[in-house]
Order: sequence, then structure tokens, then C-alpha cells
Amino acid sequence: MDLVVKVPRLPHVGETVTGGVFATFPGGKGANQAVAAARLGARVFMVGRVGEDDFGRRARAALEQEGVDVTFVRTDSEAATGVALIGVDPHGRNLILVAPGANARVSPDDVEQAGEVIRAAAVLLLQLEIPMEAVRRAAQIAHEAGVRVVLDPAPVAPLPGDLYPLLDVLNPNEIEAHALTGLPLGSTEEAVRAAEALYRRGARAAVVKLGERGAVYASMGARGHVPAFPVAAQDTTAAGDAFAAALGVALAEGKPLGQAVRFANAAAALKVTRMGAQSMPARSEVEALLNR
Ligand code: ADP
Repeated sequence: MDLVVKVPRLPHVGETVTGGVFATFPGGKGANQAVAAARLGARVFMVGRVGEDDFGRRARAALEQEGVDVTFVRTDSEAATGVALIGVDPHGRNLILVAPGANARVSPDDVEQAGEVIRAAAVLLLQLEIPMEAVRRAAQIAHEAGVRVVLDPAPVAPLPGDLYPLLDVLNPNEIEAHALTGLPLGSTEEAVRAAEALYRRGARAAVVKLGERGAVYASMGARGHVPAFPVAAQDTTAAGDAFAAALGVALAEGKPLGQAVRFANAAAALKVTRMGAQSMPARSEVEALLNR
């Protein structure tokens, strides 16, 4: 659950900024991506955990309302639903504090239980808000079944070397790509080189999200920069989630990588024009922006 305060400006350490407006929104990277993919027309199953509390009930209901199958979202009686405290300034910049709660208890066994739906999927979307062992097990199951695996390595953590070959797309943002490679991403040329460095570690492709600069990609046959769609940013929370989900949907539909990145830029641009992590665009809105 995201607890969001829209403030006049973000505070420095030890400082209090008042005058904010408070609202709660269902969030979490996995749930955001599930909702985004569902709105883009995909049939979606979510695997995860919530606590036995109000936030958990609301998070589950929000997914169900979007048509996401929550059979594999377990209710954990020993941990609270994960929460994020989010500050957003008038430029749409944010500051986020996370208490993972039940998310930290998602296990390889939880993943095994969903094995049948993972094997039957077109794409598996992974993020790092659950333990690495659960991520790795899910990637293994999908990879063995020939299911495309997209990993959004957020929040960023060192990736085990044996994870890379299981990935069809590694999809970090600029900060995460820098953390993983140590390379500069100041210019788009540098960002393409960082994407190539990630690709060379064994993922089939790397797509690096660059905020208002769009995204760059590198794979065996292709590399390039796809500029962002110009929009007035309101709230960049979950822009990366909109992007990863749209990328997954486009790949599931057989779009080539460059086109999939353009589709993802369009979905993410629409997301940043709205408040809230799960204010994801509908398929028709993305198509309209692409055809404008
Ligand atoms: P994250 O949300 O993970 O930090 P980014 O900030 O890089 O990721 O944003 C993800 C994607 O959202 C970008 O690749 C781009 O497509 C889109 N996006 C982000 N900010 C803007 C913006 N100001 N204008 C248009 N598109 C944006």
C-alpha cells in the first residue's frame, strides 16, 4: 500500500515539510505491473503475499477489480502488508521509504505452487521486492518452459551471475543500470553502452529506462535509443512499472524489441501524467498516443 503525501517540496534529512495532501493508493512494483498489464489487455496472474490486515484486503481487492487472478497471492498471518511512504513534489519527483512486510516472506515454495500458470504464460514479469531465491526459482521455471522472462531489477540489488542467462530482458532504470555496471549514463551514447554491458552478462536483451529521455536497448541484433513522448509530468511513481508491464505485453504479442520499447514509452508517458501508482493507462489510450 502506498501512503502518499504531495508536498510543496521534498525535505532534506532531519527537516519537516508541511502543507502536504495525503492519500493512500494500492501499490507495490509487482501489483503495479500486474494492473498495468491487465489494462493493456493481458490475462494476468499475480504471485505474492499480503498481511492479514486492511491494507492487504484493499490490495487484493484492487487487483481483483482489475481482473487480475489473485489465487497465488497468499495471506500471511505473521507479517504486515508491505507499505511505502511516498513524498511527491510539484515537479513529480519522489522520495520513497519501504517496509516490505509480507513481501519479504514470498518463498520459492510460493512460486512452485504457481508453477503451472508460470509455465503456461507468454511472459513472466519479475521485480526485486521479494527475496532473490523466489525470483530465481520463478525465472528458472519460466526459462525451462520457454516463457519469456522480464526482470525489472528494482529496488536494485546485486544480481547472481547465474540469473542473467535466465533473462530475456533486463529492464533497469538509469540509477539501477549505473549500480549494476558502474558505468556513466549521462549521454544516450553512454546509456547504450551500459545496456550493451548488461546484455553481455548473458541476458537476451537489456532495456534501460531513462525517465524523460525515454529508453535505450541492446540485444544481439539491435541497439538504439527511443525518445520519450513529451508530456506534463504529475507523478513519476510507477512510471518504470508501467514501462516494464507494457514491454512484457508487447513482447507477449510478438512485437520486435524496438517497437516494444516504443509501446512501453507510450504507456509510461501516460502514467506520469496522473497521480497514484496504479493509475495505469488503458490499451486504447496507448494506441491513441502511438498513432497521434
Ligand atoms: P523509474 O520509474 O523506474 O524510475 P524512469 O523514471 O526511467 O523509471 O521512467 C520510466 C519510463 O517512464 C521512461 O523510460 C519513460 O518512458 C517514461 N517517463 C518517465 N518520466 C517521463 C517524463 N517526464 N516524460 C515522458 N515519459 C517519461
